[in-house]
Amino acid sequence: MKRMYYAESALSESFIARRARVVAAATVDWCRARQQNNFQLFLPKLREMVALMREEAACRTAAEQRYRAALGELPAPGASPAPIYESLLHMFEPGMSVADVDSIFDAMKAWLPQLLTAIVEQQTAAERREPAAYAYVQRLRDVCIPVAAQAALNRHCMELLEYDFEAGRLDVSPHPFTSLQKTDARVTTHYDEHNYMKTLFATIHETGHGRYEQCCGPRALLGQPVCHARSLMMHETQSRFLEVMVGRSGAFAAYIQPHLLRHYAAAPPEPGRAPGVEGAAEQDTLREAFGREEKVRYLHQRVEPGLIRLEADEVCYPLHIILRYEIERALVEGTMEAEDVPRVWNEKMKQYLGLDPGDRDDLGCLQDMHWSQGFFGYFPTYTLGSMFAAQLMATIRRELGEAEVARCIAAGELAPIFAQQKAKIWDQGCLYETEDLMRRATGEKLNPKYFREHLERRYLRRED
Ligand SMILES: [Zn+2]
Repeated sequence: MKRMYYAESALSESFIARRARVVAAATVDWCRARQQNNFQLFLPKLREMVALMREEAACRTAAEQRYRAALGELPAPGASPAPIYESLLHMFEPGMSVADVDSIFDAMKAWLPQLLTAIVEQQTAAERREPAAYAYVQRLRDVCIPVAAQAALNRHCMELLEYDFEAGRLDVSPHPFTSLQKTDARVTTHYDEHNYMKTLFATIHETGHGRYEQCCGPRALLGQPVCHARSLMMHETQSRFLEVMVGRSGAFAAYIQPHLLRHYAAAPPEPGRAPGVEGAAEQDTLREAFGREEKVRYLHQRVEPGLIRLEADEVCYPLHIILRYEIERALVEGTMEAEDVPRVWNEKMKQYLGLDPGDRDDLGCLQDMHWSQGFFGYFPTYTLGSMFAAQLMATIRRELGEAEVARCIAAGELAPIFAQQKAKIWDQGCLYETEDLMRRATGEKLNPKYFREHLERRYLRRED
């Protein structure tokens, strides 16, 4: 609570008012700039925003020093002060140091791009060897799966994942999100008639956020700080745990395959049932894609580097994040200026993902709204959350047995996995510092080796 107090009182009233005005104007300019693919329209406000963030980081750093002094923790003599960016990171993950993030991301940069190349080569080789066997991947994109059918399957998945519909609901929005209220953790999703995976995995992801809100902390203390989510990073751990560790697994492909077939490649519509897909050729494609577990699994685990973070698979995602982290940190610390963003963005995109947005800044540095909103320090939590999700799953597998975890997921009997989640994470609420919570849950602090093992196991060895 003390830390919350210091964090909340770090900024002056006039600064907050000034920031609110810049955010409002920057959001409008960012929207226009993105629509017109014209970075220059956003540049003046981005410059102002960067100046504000430098000021805010300095204020927050000073507040953190006051907080530490109040706790009697004085800096070690001769220790160099943390970069001011760290205080922004702490808004989203209190306690995480920039040194930790650097060491995790630097290590990942050394192995992830190569792993990505190896996975894509393996995939391409398989698709070239048997083009007919994989043609359904492309054909499926031409089939139109009605929103009503997709919505019914979303509902089914949320029930499977034990989302409490008494304390939330499912709606539609352009960008899926979850309202972080414990008794009203409503979830939104979006639909693409030519890509059912978008809504399926977005819904599972948001359900993970929703369940964490609904289940976090002891019920009797509802309204007290201990019932708050631990951090945005822990929130992302929970959403990625369901979306990626459970949802993209081979075991989940086995579970969902008959449901995909029933919901999407269904017989003629019955009264009261959403109309299905029309056309015999389309039906054939759906029956082929959803008729066998391996085909569903291939769809769900296909890796394809792209320019857009929100559409990235779990292998590419961290590279999108590292790129943003490096840029926003350099901006806040003054080693880079706003006008350099498009150039540096494209260089890093080429280096990490092998892609070049060229002059399409709308598909490059203008794609995310975070910087126009003043959310500097947010991006790293996405990947750190995914990494801890892998660590948490490794622990649960160790404790319940690997075969048992796969059986539970494939059978749609998730209670034993949720019991572990409850004991390790949900019941602890906000009682412990993140690092402490991680140690209690898994026996060690965030260890990136689990994430790497997970990716290699699933995408290189196809064992998960
Ligand atoms: Zn999320």
